[in-house]
Amino acid sequence: MKKKIAILPGDGIGPEVMRETLRVLDCIEKVFNHSFDYLESEVGGQAYDRYQSHCPEKTLKICENADAILFGSVGGPVAEQQQAKWKNCEINSILKIRKHFNFSTNIRPVIIYPALANSSPIKNSQSVDFVVFRELLGGIYFGRHERTTKDNQKIAIDESYYHENQIKQIAHAAFNAARSRKKRVHLIDKANVLATSKLWREIVMEIAQDDSEIELIPMFVDNCAMQMVINPAQFDIILTENMFGDILSDLGAALSGSIGMMPSASLNSEGFGLYEPAGGSAPDIANQNIANPCAQLLSAAMMLRYSFHAEEEAQAIEKAVKKTLSRGIATRDIKKEKPASTSIFIDAIIEALS
Ligand code: NAD
Repeated sequence: MKKKIAILPGDGIGPEVMRETLRVLDCIEKVFNHSFDYLESEVGGQAYDRYQSHCPEKTLKICENADAILFGSVGGPVAEQQQAKWKNCEINSILKIRKHFNFSTNIRPVIIYPALANSSPIKNSQSVDFVVFRELLGGIYFGRHERTTKDNQKIAIDESYYHENQIKQIAHAAFNAARSRKKRVHLIDKANVLATSKLWREIVMEIAQDDSEIELIPMFVDNCAMQMVINPAQFDIILTENMFGDILSDLGAALSGSIGMMPSASLNSEGFGLYEPAGGSAPDIANQNIANPCAQLLSAAMMLRYSFHAEEEAQAIEKAVKKTLSRGIATRDIKKEKPASTSIFIDAIIEALS
């Protein structure tokens, strides 16, 4: 397999976790006899320094010419957000790229690794391993937002809108993913109240009727939030709309025990994808070789799975992460005593893969 990968390390811990992830991809290249061409470009504050733009044309062009985008993180310290270098940095870079490529499906796995059981707020965290499929370009975030007044009283209106094709697209992606997992999809909605939820239920149930292999379980979003805390092991694939997915995927991130473990993927209807850690640029720990590289590395594994259909290679990385953690090798966010540095952790991953 020969693939071109756009590499956008960005700010804060982005460059260091990206560098370490590329060492692992180099190893995958050798072990599985592939050829990866890395097309690196600037994004975020890093790009602003050079081009006075958080996402220059050159970066978009490189992404357009690639088979997938591996993104680090962008943004500066929270206290410096008003400086020109950091102002609107996320909006002008990652949100611009998501919009440019029409990324409509967001995928976030939630796994509680046995080695992180003590860091998870869930007591009985064994066998928690599910994936949230969140629609990314519809619903209330993209509807009409209006402020007005009536009888001297302030009024605000947010409209939610869904087209059946938006629902079909992500539902098929979720059902396909379920096929190689436990063949179970939870559809999360508020179909007792919302018209958009009723449409979601109608469309997804039609898809389920034609797909006897997959079990569909509809669940209301309020119940889902509760179930994710009291019994998260029941879930395998969660399929949901934009705002519910936003909230539930962050709840999932909290379950996992460290934001440094959380990868994500965003795909468009042609299957082109961007892969990035769920967390931010963590300026408080940047350039110290202490960041957890797992979110970036597991994002690369998702790229192998969803963009390159290299399931064996993706699983090899995921197994190496599990094995390394179970050997007691982990970064400071997970292991307080004798933590491994970012690069030592990756050394252990490469040893597990070789
Ligand atoms: P953050 O996710 O960067 O950091 C929150 C906390 O988690 C910090 O204590 C940090 O040290 C820790 N953390 C995050 N990733 C880690 C890792 N891999 N290993 C170990 N610890 C890790 O969130 P924040 O501090 O609110 O934001 C910092 C900057 O990141 C801001 O400029 C924000 O706008 C930006 N941000 C960017 C993205 C993105 O690039 N998509 C997403 C969220 C936030």
